[in-house]
Amino acid sequence: MLVQLTYASRTATILGPGDVKDILRSSARNNTAVGVTGALCLANGIFLQQLEGDRQAVNTVYHRILKDPRHKEPAILDLSEIVVRQFGSWSMGLIAATQENRQLFLKYSSTSEFDPYKMSPSTLRAFFSEVIQSARWLS
Ligand code: FAD
Repeated sequence: MLVQLTYASRTATILGPGDVKDILRSSARNNTAVGVTGALCLANGIFLQQLEGDRQAVNTVYHRILKDPRHKEPAILDLSEIVVRQFGSWSMGLIAATQENRQLFLKYSSTSEFDPYKMSPSTLRAFFSEVIQSARWLS
């Protein structure tokens, strides 16, 4: 069964581009091995990640991520069954906080700052769908 899990968390310390690269490197290695795909945003000190794949594989990856000391206050924002993957070719794509992407973040935020904790499941799904089409992907 194919599922999509979306969660948010806050950075535990100040993370630089090298830290994010490390996370993406581990993600590419581990997610590819278990058929998990997805995307990760970091903006405003908040991670927003969507993981998709086999339900058990997504659960396993999510529970490993939860143990990571680089973030805190994780919250599942959406968990849905899906028919097809959105991120079929991305073991983990990075949605960077570029100016262009910031505008996209704000388009879907009810507040002036990007705050996925306040976004509804349907808004999150719409956000990721648009991201796939228009955001600048870095990795
Ligand atoms: P390695 O990557 O080789 O790391 C070895 C150990 O060191 C791990 O326990 C790791 O947690 C720890 N570690 C490495 N660097 C640091 C550091 N700078 N500070 C503290 N501890 C560190 N992993 C995935 O596989 N898939 C994902 O989609 C994914 N998404 C993530 C999203 C976020 C927001 C964060 C914070 C982490 C994410 N990770 C993801 C990383 C995950 O938490 C684990 O670190 C990683 O899966 C461990 O991979 P590994 O066993 O190959 O170990």
